[in-house]
Amino acid sequence: MTDIKNVSVIGAGVLGAQIAFVVVQAGFKVTAWDINDDAVEAAKGRFKSIGKSMIADLDTASEESVAKAHENLSLTTDMEAAVAEADIIIEAVPEKLDLKRSTWEKLGKAAPSHTILCTNTSSLLGSEIADASGDPKRFINTHFANRVWVKNIVEIMPNPETDLKYRDIVEEFAHEADLAPVVLKKEQRAYLLNTMMVPFLQAAQYLYVNDVADVDQIDKDWRIAMSTEVGPFEIMDMIGMRSIVNVAEGSGEDQPEWKKKFTEIAKQMIEEGRSGQGDGEGFYKYDDNGNKIEK
Ligand code: NAD
Repeated sequence: MTDIKNVSVIGAGVLGAQIAFVVVQAGFKVTAWDINDDAVEAAKGRFKSIGKSMIADLDTASEESVAKAHENLSLTTDMEAAVAEADIIIEAVPEKLDLKRSTWEKLGKAAPSHTILCTNTSSLLGSEIADASGDPKRFINTHFANRVWVKNIVEIMPNPETDLKYRDIVEEFAHEADLAPVVLKKEQRAYLLNTMMVPFLQAAQYLYVNDVADVDQIDKDWRIAMSTEVGPFEIMDMIGMRSIVNVAEGSGEDQPEWKKKFTEIAKQMIEEGRSGQGDGEGFYKYDDNGNKIEK
């Protein structure tokens, strides 16, 4: 059993809000931080909808447990206050190296000296960020999958400077938070899941951009043939277009035309308020509980 009681989640967007709510529902006290009042208001809406989804999806969640979770969850725009008593920080700000580093410079100074420092990146390595926190040995990557309460995997990835005792504590904490930890032995850009999933999503983007088939046909093909519930565009709607764009632009590689074209389409969708399930619309439309509305 770990000594972790207070958890701070930095950035309560698509993933941060889910992480915060799953952890608070498991009995921890959670403080979530976001950048301004508008972002905090948006986070409140996310918490409500995640709570409803948890009741619908999990036998372990009820109206009572979700109401209690709301009581143990606080939201603030004051970063120092957010981490003042943190035993563990889980950061989930957008996937931009400069932003992650500047955030960790502030967090490293504000957090107590015992706090375990976790970053939730999709493709950035801990070793690119860890020194900004001021203490790389306490710094470790934790990678969650979208719809955390159902897909409760957390990939735990040490960087070369991480003291492995923290990797063990985070693994134990994950069990306590009703998560399913997967431990990596060393740094791998994109972890296990995205090393496998990104090439798959890009193959679907290639088919779409080249007008080989419509989105629903590509998804149907994958779903039925692979005996799985979701196809690649349904997955992209869950991930959200912001992360799709950030990963595409963050790779630093020279992009082929079809990739550039897909990124432009994704940016257009964000501008139009169709950034994915979180907006109620992406490639498909969704109801208030995040369920796809069939045509
Ligand atoms: P998001 O854009 O939905 O949320 C980011 C949050 O950070 C927002 O609430 C935003 O207000 C806040 N924020 C704080 N400081 C900010 C600043 N200076 N500028 C802009 N926003 C700021 O992103 P997300 O999808 O939750 O992703 C967060 C992290 O988690 C990223 O590193 C992403 O790659 C990673 N991730 C995302 C997914 C996914 O499926 N969405 C899965 C695994 C990992």
